[in-house]
Amino acid sequence: MKIIRIETWASTRVGFVRIETDSRHEGWGQLSPFNADLTAELLHRLLARRTLGTDPIDHEQLIEDLERHNHKFIGTFLYRALCGIDGALWDLRGKLEGKAVCELLGGTPDPMPVYASSMDRKRDAKGVVETLKPWRDACGARAFKIKIMQVNGRDVDVWPGRSEDLLQAMGTEFHDAALLIADANGGYSPDKAIEKSRLLRDCGFSLFEEPCHCQDIPGTARVNVEGVAPVCAGEQDYDLVRWQMIFDANAVAVAQPDLCYTGGLTRCLKIARMAEKAGIPVMPHASNRSMAMLYAMHLMRAIPNAADFLECGIEGDSGPGAPLEPPLRMVDGRVAFPEGPGWGIQVNPDALETFRRDHYRESRQA
Ligand SMILES: [Mg+2]
Repeated sequence: MKIIRIETWASTRVGFVRIETDSRHEGWGQLSPFNADLTAELLHRLLARRTLGTDPIDHEQLIEDLERHNHKFIGTFLYRALCGIDGALWDLRGKLEGKAVCELLGGTPDPMPVYASSMDRKRDAKGVVETLKPWRDACGARAFKIKIMQVNGRDVDVWPGRSEDLLQAMGTEFHDAALLIADANGGYSPDKAIEKSRLLRDCGFSLFEEPCHCQDIPGTARVNVEGVAPVCAGEQDYDLVRWQMIFDANAVAVAQPDLCYTGGLTRCLKIARMAEKAGIPVMPHASNRSMAMLYAMHLMRAIPNAADFLECGIEGDSGPGAPLEPPLRMVDGRVAFPEGPGWGIQVNPDALETFRRDHYRESRQA
Protein backbone atom coordinates (compact mmCIF):
# COMPACT_ATOMS: atom_id res chain seq x y z
CA MET A 1 0.00 0.00 0.00
CA LYS A 2 1.26 3.47 -0.91
CA ILE A 3 0.29 7.03 -0.14
CA ILE A 4 -0.75 8.71 -3.40
CA ARG A 5 -2.45 11.96 -2.37
CA ILE A 6 -2.24 14.58 0.39
CA GLU A 7 -4.86 17.34 0.64
CA THR A 8 -5.06 20.26 3.05
CA TRP A 9 -7.85 22.67 3.92
CA ALA A 10 -6.78 25.55 6.11
CA SER A 11 -7.95 28.84 7.52
CA THR A 12 -5.68 31.13 9.46
CA ARG A 13 -6.89 29.39 12.64
CA VAL A 14 -6.95 25.67 11.87
CA GLY A 15 -6.28 23.24 9.04
CA PHE A 16 -7.06 19.63 8.16
CA VAL A 17 -5.07 17.02 6.28
CA ARG A 18 -6.48 14.11 4.25
CA ILE A 19 -4.18 11.32 3.13
CA GLU A 20 -5.29 8.77 0.52
CA THR A 21 -3.68 5.48 -0.47
CA ASP A 22 -3.62 3.59 -3.77
CA SER A 23 -6.09 1.18 -2.13
CA ARG A 24 -8.54 4.13 -1.71
CA HIS A 25 -8.25 4.18 2.08
CA GLU A 26 -8.09 7.55 3.78
CA GLY A 27 -7.02 9.12 7.04
CA TRP A 28 -7.67 12.58 8.50
CA GLY A 29 -5.39 14.66 10.65
CA GLN A 30 -5.17 18.25 11.83
CA LEU A 31 -2.46 20.85 11.49
CA SER A 32 -1.54 22.80 14.57
CA PRO A 33 -4.01 25.64 15.26
CA PHE A 34 -3.08 29.27 14.45
CA ASN A 35 -1.43 30.34 11.18
CA ALA A 36 -2.56 26.97 9.82
CA ASP A 37 -2.61 28.37 6.25
CA LEU A 38 1.14 29.00 6.48
CA THR A 39 1.61 25.56 8.00
CA ALA A 40 -0.32 23.90 5.15
CA GLU A 41 1.91 25.63 2.60
CA LEU A 42 4.97 24.35 4.43
CA LEU A 43 3.55 20.82 4.53
CA HIS A 44 3.29 20.73 0.74
CA ARG A 45 6.68 22.38 0.21
CA LEU A 46 8.74 20.40 2.74
CA LEU A 47 6.95 17.20 3.67
CA ALA A 48 4.65 16.04 0.87
CA ARG A 49 7.23 14.82 -1.65
CA ARG A 50 8.93 12.44 0.79
CA THR A 51 5.57 11.25 2.14
CA LEU A 52 4.04 10.38 -1.23
CA GLY A 53 4.85 6.84 -2.35
CA THR A 54 5.65 5.57 1.15
CA ASP A 55 3.87 2.73 2.94
CA PRO A 56 1.50 4.24 5.54
CA ILE A 57 1.81 1.25 7.88
CA ASP A 58 4.31 1.64 10.73
CA HIS A 59 4.73 5.29 9.87
CA GLU A 60 6.98 6.08 12.84
CA GLN A 61 9.99 5.66 10.54
CA LEU A 62 8.49 8.12 8.06
CA ILE A 63 7.99 10.73 10.79
CA GLU A 64 11.61 10.33 11.85
CA ASP A 65 12.80 10.55 8.22
CA LEU A 66 10.78 13.72 7.58
CA GLU A 67 12.32 15.33 10.65
CA ARG A 68 15.88 14.26 9.84
CA HIS A 69 15.62 15.27 6.18
CA ASN A 70 14.43 18.76 7.15
CA HIS A 71 17.28 19.42 9.57
CA LYS A 72 17.73 22.94 8.16
CA PHE A 73 14.13 23.78 8.99
CA ILE A 74 13.87 22.48 12.55
CA GLY A 75 11.40 24.75 14.33
CA THR A 76 7.82 25.12 15.36
CA PHE A 77 6.32 25.27 11.86
CA LEU A 78 7.95 21.99 10.82
CA TYR A 79 6.30 20.21 13.75
CA ARG A 80 3.02 22.10 13.31
CA ALA A 81 2.87 20.58 9.80
CA LEU A 82 4.21 17.17 10.81
CA CYS A 83 1.33 16.67 13.26
CA GLY A 84 -1.10 16.86 10.32
CA ILE A 85 0.61 14.01 8.48
CA ASP A 86 1.17 12.00 11.66
CA GLY A 87 -2.47 12.44 12.68
CA ALA A 88 -3.80 11.37 9.28
CA LEU A 89 -1.60 8.26 9.31
CA TRP A 90 -2.70 7.20 12.81
CA ASP A 91 -6.32 7.65 11.67
CA LEU A 92 -5.66 5.59 8.55
CA ARG A 93 -4.03 2.79 10.52
CA GLY A 94 -6.92 2.72 12.98
CA LYS A 95 -9.42 2.47 10.13
CA LEU A 96 -7.45 -0.33 8.48
CA GLU A 97 -7.39 -2.35 11.72
CA GLY A 98 -10.87 -1.34 12.93
CA LYS A 99 -9.48 0.09 16.17
CA ALA A 100 -9.43 3.42 17.95
CA VAL A 101 -5.96 4.99 17.92
CA CYS A 102 -5.45 4.38 21.64
CA GLU A 103 -6.38 0.70 21.10
CA LEU A 104 -3.57 0.42 18.55
CA LEU A 105 -1.28 1.34 21.46
CA GLY A 106 -2.85 -1.08 23.95
CA GLY A 107 -5.22 1.41 25.61
CA THR A 108 -9.00 1.57 25.93
CA PRO A 109 -11.17 4.55 24.92
CA ASP A 110 -12.87 5.06 28.29
CA PRO A 111 -14.37 8.53 28.86
CA MET A 112 -11.72 10.99 29.98
CA PRO A 113 -12.13 13.22 33.06
CA VAL A 114 -11.46 16.81 32.06
CA TYR A 115 -10.83 20.15 33.70
CA ALA A 116 -12.78 23.22 32.62
CA SER A 117 -10.17 25.61 31.27
CA SER A 118 -10.87 29.34 30.91
CA MET A 119 -8.71 31.46 28.60
CA ASP A 120 -10.30 34.66 29.89
CA ARG A 121 -8.07 37.57 30.91
CA LYS A 122 -10.66 40.30 30.35
CA ARG A 123 -13.14 39.48 33.12
CA ASP A 124 -12.63 40.29 36.76
CA ALA A 125 -12.65 37.68 39.52
CA LYS A 126 -16.44 37.61 39.87
CA GLY A 127 -16.90 37.34 36.10
CA VAL A 128 -14.51 34.39 35.73
CA VAL A 129 -16.06 32.55 38.69
CA GLU A 130 -19.56 33.06 37.25
CA THR A 131 -18.37 31.70 33.89
CA LEU A 132 -16.97 28.55 35.50
CA LYS A 133 -19.87 27.75 37.84
CA PRO A 134 -22.14 26.25 35.12
CA TRP A 135 -19.32 23.89 34.14
CA ARG A 136 -19.42 22.57 37.71
CA ASP A 137 -23.18 22.72 38.26
CA ALA A 138 -24.46 21.64 34.83
CA CYS A 139 -21.53 19.69 33.33
CA GLY A 140 -20.11 18.05 36.44
CA ALA A 141 -16.59 19.44 36.18
CA ARG A 142 -14.49 18.83 39.30
CA ALA A 143 -11.32 20.55 38.11
CA PHE A 144 -10.68 24.07 36.79
CA LYS A 145 -8.04 26.34 35.31
CA ILE A 146 -7.88 30.11 35.24
CA LYS A 147 -5.49 32.65 33.68
CA ILE A 148 -3.51 35.07 35.80
CA MET A 149 -1.11 37.94 34.97
CA GLN A 150 -0.34 39.32 31.52
CA VAL A 151 1.05 36.84 28.97
CA ASN A 152 4.85 37.07 29.25
CA GLY A 153 4.11 40.08 31.42
CA ARG A 154 7.35 40.68 33.37
CA ASP A 155 5.44 40.75 36.69
CA VAL A 156 2.73 43.05 35.31
CA ASP A 157 -0.90 42.08 35.88
CA VAL A 158 -3.75 42.74 33.45
CA TRP A 159 -4.76 45.39 35.98
CA PRO A 160 -3.42 45.78 39.52
CA GLY A 161 -4.76 43.15 41.89
CA ARG A 162 -6.73 41.12 39.34
CA SER A 163 -4.75 37.89 39.82
CA GLU A 164 -4.80 38.02 43.62
CA ASP A 165 -8.57 38.71 43.63
CA LEU A 166 -9.18 35.88 41.18
CA LEU A 167 -7.08 33.32 43.10
CA GLN A 168 -8.96 34.14 46.30
CA ALA A 169 -12.39 34.12 44.64
CA MET A 170 -11.69 30.74 43.02
CA GLY A 171 -10.45 29.32 46.31
CA THR A 172 -13.67 30.41 48.02
CA GLU A 173 -16.11 29.19 45.34
CA PHE A 174 -14.29 26.01 44.29
CA HIS A 175 -12.72 24.99 47.61
CA ASP A 176 -13.84 21.38 47.14
CA ALA A 177 -12.51 21.02 43.58
CA ALA A 178 -10.33 18.01 42.79
CA LEU A 179 -7.80 20.24 41.00
CA LEU A 180 -7.26 23.98 40.61
CA ILE A 181 -4.63 25.29 38.18
CA ALA A 182 -3.46 28.89 37.76
CA ASP A 183 -1.80 29.58 34.40
CA ALA A 184 0.49 32.62 34.26
CA ASN A 185 1.59 32.09 30.62
CA GLY A 186 5.09 33.22 31.53
CA GLY A 187 3.90 36.32 33.39
CA TYR A 188 6.27 36.19 36.37
CA SER A 189 9.96 36.48 37.06
CA PRO A 190 11.21 33.46 39.04
CA ASP A 191 11.51 35.45 42.30
CA LYS A 192 7.98 36.86 42.05
CA ALA A 193 6.58 33.44 41.07
CA ILE A 194 8.18 31.81 44.12
CA GLU A 195 6.65 34.53 46.30
CA LYS A 196 3.20 34.13 44.67
CA SER A 197 3.25 30.34 44.95
CA ARG A 198 2.31 30.75 48.63
CA LEU A 199 -0.90 32.55 47.68
CA LEU A 200 -1.71 29.81 45.15
CA ARG A 201 -1.26 27.16 47.82
CA ASP A 202 -3.26 29.09 50.42
CA CYS A 203 -6.14 29.44 47.92
CA GLY A 204 -6.16 25.68 47.24
CA PHE A 205 -4.36 25.65 43.89
CA SER A 206 -2.47 22.40 43.25
CA LEU A 207 -0.58 23.45 40.12
CA PHE A 208 1.19 26.63 38.96
CA GLU A 209 1.26 26.56 35.15
CA GLU A 210 4.05 28.16 33.10
CA PRO A 211 4.99 30.66 35.84
CA CYS A 212 8.01 32.02 33.92
CA HIS A 213 8.86 32.58 30.29
CA CYS A 214 8.81 29.29 28.38
CA GLN A 215 12.49 29.56 27.45
CA ASP A 216 13.60 30.00 31.06
CA ILE A 217 14.12 26.39 32.12
CA PRO A 218 16.42 27.27 35.08
CA GLY A 219 13.97 29.90 36.36
CA THR A 220 11.01 27.52 35.99
CA ALA A 221 13.01 24.86 37.85
CA ARG A 222 13.62 27.31 40.70
CA VAL A 223 9.88 27.93 41.03
CA ASN A 224 9.17 24.19 41.01
CA VAL A 225 11.84 23.44 43.63
CA GLU A 226 11.79 26.56 45.84
CA GLY A 227 8.09 27.47 45.50
CA VAL A 228 5.31 25.74 47.42
CA ALA A 229 2.99 25.12 44.43
CA PRO A 230 4.19 22.42 42.00
CA VAL A 231 4.81 23.61 38.43
CA CYS A 232 3.28 22.27 35.22
CA ALA A 233 4.68 23.51 31.91
CA GLY A 234 6.02 22.58 28.50
CA GLU A 235 3.24 23.48 26.08
CA GLN A 236 5.61 25.47 23.81
CA ASP A 237 8.36 22.83 23.73
CA TYR A 238 8.71 20.60 20.66
CA ASP A 239 12.40 19.72 20.93
CA LEU A 240 13.14 16.37 22.58
CA VAL A 241 16.53 17.61 23.80
CA ARG A 242 14.85 20.53 25.57
CA TRP A 243 12.32 18.12 27.07
CA GLN A 244 15.16 16.06 28.54
CA MET A 245 16.66 19.29 29.91
CA ILE A 246 13.29 20.11 31.52
CA PHE A 247 13.16 16.72 33.22
CA ASP A 248 16.83 16.76 34.22
CA ALA A 249 16.44 20.25 35.73
CA ASN A 250 13.38 19.17 37.74
CA ALA A 251 11.56 22.09 36.12
CA VAL A 252 8.09 20.50 36.18
CA ALA A 253 6.02 18.28 38.44
CA VAL A 254 3.60 17.66 35.57
CA ALA A 255 4.55 17.73 31.87
CA GLN A 256 2.28 19.52 29.41
CA PRO A 257 3.35 18.75 25.85
CA ASP A 258 0.96 19.91 23.12
CA LEU A 259 0.47 17.13 20.58
CA CYS A 260 0.15 19.61 17.71
CA TYR A 261 3.19 21.70 18.63
CA THR A 262 5.33 18.60 19.20
CA GLY A 263 4.60 17.11 15.78
CA GLY A 264 1.84 14.65 16.69
CA LEU A 265 1.22 11.51 18.69
CA THR A 266 4.34 9.66 17.50
CA ARG A 267 6.76 12.26 18.88
CA CYS A 268 4.62 12.99 21.93
CA LEU A 269 4.78 9.31 22.90
CA LYS A 270 8.57 9.74 23.08
CA ILE A 271 8.14 12.72 25.44
CA ALA A 272 5.69 10.69 27.53
CA ARG A 273 8.26 7.90 27.86
CA MET A 274 10.91 10.44 28.91
CA ALA A 275 8.48 11.76 31.53
CA GLU A 276 7.73 8.22 32.71
CA LYS A 277 11.44 7.59 33.26
CA ALA A 278 11.57 10.79 35.33
CA GLY A 279 8.51 9.70 37.32
CA ILE A 280 6.41 12.60 36.00
CA PRO A 281 2.76 12.48 34.87
CA VAL A 282 1.69 13.88 31.50
CA MET A 283 -1.25 16.28 31.19
CA PRO A 284 -1.20 17.48 27.57
CA HIS A 285 -1.91 21.07 26.64
CA ALA A 286 -5.19 20.97 24.66
CA SER A 287 -6.88 24.32 25.06
CA ASN A 288 -9.53 24.00 22.36
CA ARG A 289 -11.90 21.26 21.35
CA SER A 290 -10.33 20.58 17.97
CA MET A 291 -8.50 17.39 16.98
CA ALA A 292 -5.75 18.59 19.34
CA MET A 293 -7.99 17.47 22.18
CA LEU A 294 -8.71 14.13 20.49
CA TYR A 295 -5.00 13.53 19.95
CA ALA A 296 -4.48 14.23 23.68
CA MET A 297 -7.34 11.95 24.79
CA HIS A 298 -5.89 8.99 22.86
CA LEU A 299 -2.38 9.68 24.18
CA MET A 300 -3.63 9.74 27.77
CA ARG A 301 -5.51 6.45 27.36
CA ALA A 302 -2.40 4.82 25.89
CA ILE A 303 0.30 5.73 28.44
CA PRO A 304 0.84 4.56 32.03
CA ASN A 305 1.75 8.01 33.37
CA ALA A 306 -1.28 10.07 32.31
CA ALA A 307 -2.48 12.72 34.76
CA ASP A 308 -6.02 12.45 36.15
CA PHE A 309 -7.55 15.26 34.08
CA LEU A 310 -7.31 16.53 30.51
CA GLU A 311 -7.79 20.16 29.53
CA CYS A 312 -11.15 21.17 28.03
CA GLY A 313 -11.45 24.77 26.80
CA ILE A 314 -14.75 26.39 27.76
CA GLU A 315 -14.81 29.40 25.44
CA GLY A 316 -16.74 28.73 22.23
CA ASP A 317 -18.41 25.43 21.49
CA SER A 318 -15.85 23.63 19.40
CA GLY A 319 -12.93 26.01 19.26
CA PRO A 320 -11.33 26.35 15.87
CA GLY A 321 -12.17 22.73 15.03
CA ALA A 322 -15.81 23.40 14.14
CA PRO A 323 -15.83 21.08 11.06
CA LEU A 324 -15.52 18.01 13.30
CA GLU A 325 -18.46 15.67 13.88
CA PRO A 326 -19.43 14.72 16.47
CA PRO A 327 -18.26 17.72 18.52
CA LEU A 328 -16.57 16.89 21.83
CA ARG A 329 -18.73 17.69 24.86
CA MET A 330 -18.29 17.47 28.62
CA VAL A 331 -20.89 15.32 30.41
CA ASP A 332 -20.57 14.47 34.12
CA GLY A 333 -17.11 16.00 34.08
CA ARG A 334 -15.88 13.70 31.36
CA VAL A 335 -15.50 13.70 27.59
CA ALA A 336 -16.49 10.55 25.71
CA PHE A 337 -14.43 9.22 22.83
CA PRO A 338 -16.31 9.43 19.53
CA GLU A 339 -17.21 5.91 18.42
CA GLY A 340 -15.44 4.45 15.44
CA PRO A 341 -11.94 3.52 14.34
CA GLY A 342 -9.01 5.90 14.12
CA TRP A 343 -9.84 9.21 15.77
CA GLY A 344 -13.55 8.34 15.48
CA ILE A 345 -14.58 11.63 13.91
CA GLN A 346 -15.77 12.82 10.53
CA VAL A 347 -14.78 16.12 8.98
CA ASN A 348 -17.94 17.96 7.95
CA PRO A 349 -17.67 18.65 4.18
CA ASP A 350 -20.03 21.66 4.38
CA ALA A 351 -17.72 23.35 6.86
CA LEU A 352 -14.74 22.56 4.64
CA GLU A 353 -16.28 24.59 1.81
CA THR A 354 -15.37 27.80 3.62
CA PHE A 355 -11.89 26.40 4.22
CA ARG A 356 -11.56 25.47 0.52
CA ARG A 357 -12.09 29.12 -0.39
CA ASP A 358 -9.58 30.10 2.23
CA HIS A 359 -6.66 27.84 1.46
CA TYR A 360 -6.82 24.47 -0.31
CA ARG A 361 -3.87 22.56 -1.72
CA GLU A 362 -3.07 19.04 -2.73
CA SER A 363 0.02 17.04 -3.61
CA ARG A 364 -0.18 13.87 -5.69
CA GLN A 365 2.24 11.17 -6.63
CA ALA A 366 3.54 11.89 -10.14
MG1 LIG B 1 -0.93 27.28 29.41
